[in-house]
Amino acid sequence: LSEHLKDPTLLRQQAYINGAWCNADNGGTHDVHNPATGEKIGTIPDMGAAETRRAIEAAQAAWAGWRKKTAKERSVILRKWNDLMLANADDLALIMTTEQGKPLAEAKGEITYAASFIEWFGEEAKRTYGDTIPSPSPTSRIVVTKEPIGVCAAITPWNFPAAMITRKAGPALAAGCPMVLKPAEATPFSALALAVLAERAGVPAGVFSVVTGSAKLIGGEMTSNPIVRKLSFTGSTAIGKLLMEQCASSVKKLSLELGGNAPFIVFDDADLDAAVEGAIASKFRNAGQTCVCANRIYVQDGVYDAFAEKLVAAVGKLKVGNGLESGVTQGPLIDEKAVKKVEQHIADARDKGGRVLIGGKRHALGHSFFEPTVIADVTSKMIIAKEETFGPMAPLFRFTSDDEAISMANDTEFGLAAYFYSRDIGRIWRVAEGLESGMVGINTGLISNEVAPFGGVKQSGLGREGSHYGIDDYLVIKYLCMGGI
Ligand code: ADP
Repeated sequence: LSEHLKDPTLLRQQAYINGAWCNADNGGTHDVHNPATGEKIGTIPDMGAAETRRAIEAAQAAWAGWRKKTAKERSVILRKWNDLMLANADDLALIMTTEQGKPLAEAKGEITYAASFIEWFGEEAKRTYGDTIPSPSPTSRIVVTKEPIGVCAAITPWNFPAAMITRKAGPALAAGCPMVLKPAEATPFSALALAVLAERAGVPAGVFSVVTGSAKLIGGEMTSNPIVRKLSFTGSTAIGKLLMEQCASSVKKLSLELGGNAPFIVFDDADLDAAVEGAIASKFRNAGQTCVCANRIYVQDGVYDAFAEKLVAAVGKLKVGNGLESGVTQGPLIDEKAVKKVEQHIADARDKGGRVLIGGKRHALGHSFFEPTVIADVTSKMIIAKEETFGPMAPLFRFTSDDEAISMANDTEFGLAAYFYSRDIGRIWRVAEGLESGMVGINTGLISNEVAPFGGVKQSGLGREGSHYGIDDYLVIKYLCMGGI
């Protein structure tokens, strides 16, 4: 990989702790593979609790200096980090596609998206306004200020190897908090490349550290160490619950961005071509491996067959292959386990009467490539109705009334994203208000950007990332009661 990079120094095979590139204490390493070819890309240090503790202690030591900087000083550094990410977008995208598999164009898009959080929160740093409150007493005054919460830990997933990091590090650093990050085992090189650029941008030693290795040991230290005041996690609901439990003993503040099971509803008055385009974008982006991917597509009776036909035609145009090849729109899944899950969901749907309209099996390219799939006649009895597939499989459910659609859409413990297509203004309001989810895409399949609040309700998580709300997750409120006036 390094010979294909314009700047080969972006590819680091060491962790970054307290401003130094380092190996695991015991010298252990862990191989990282390219999911499209199975080839080894390189190794990363297999670190555990001791290295994590050092990173946390270094963060604590760096905190005083970082929080003392003015918001503008921090924002200048963040702006530089953003600029460096954009200037190195080609290399960062190449690293990402090689370790994660997504098509290069998508990887480039993610780098721009990832940088936007650094830019946005660098600007928001200057707007962490407090408040004054009219006092009930003539001799006192009430002032509210916002302060950085302190040392933050972050655990991020492999599906967005850059953006899930900047969405946490951006607001943390902007607010005046240092952060220790554990990136996903499958995609550490994107994280380490961001650390190279953070260092070049002038982020001081200890303010942003990246620890690679054992999720259990690093996560264990992050959640039990009392220095850590806040944990931000993006990943599965099961691990989110575990981390929440582990954080209970030291009462850490939590931001959790967990699983989704997004409904995508097509009403009979929808613009079907637009709905198909939205469904493709929402379902098949990143090979279906995003927490906001449409997971259950509900289509109203009157347009069911027409929508299915148009969707199958569009899915037939998707090109599966190595993300580095031009024209490829769907890369491999992240690993064999991911493929097995998709296979299991399809087998279950078939057994219970589902009809595969296109795809349905592993792709002839082998490895973890999977055919983009559409299944009709899907019902609430099937696994897919309850569980996130996290793969390129679009299940089509049928409904008749609006109330039925809303109640089916809400029949899940998750509540991250929901989408629907309609052109009736009354219906749009009723459905938007009826859906139990943190985000609703109305006549669009793409909702994520840095200025809007991303997050879920129910078991999809806590807190919001991005937007002016996002920095609050890294701030604490202090109330100053000034007496004797
Ligand atoms: P996914 O299915 O997206 O891999 P996970 O929740 O398993 O979701 O993983 C998301 C992140 O959580 C990864 O960085 C992973 O290493 C980390 N993780 C997994 N298990 C643990 C654990 N026991 N403690 C801390 N982090 C964990």
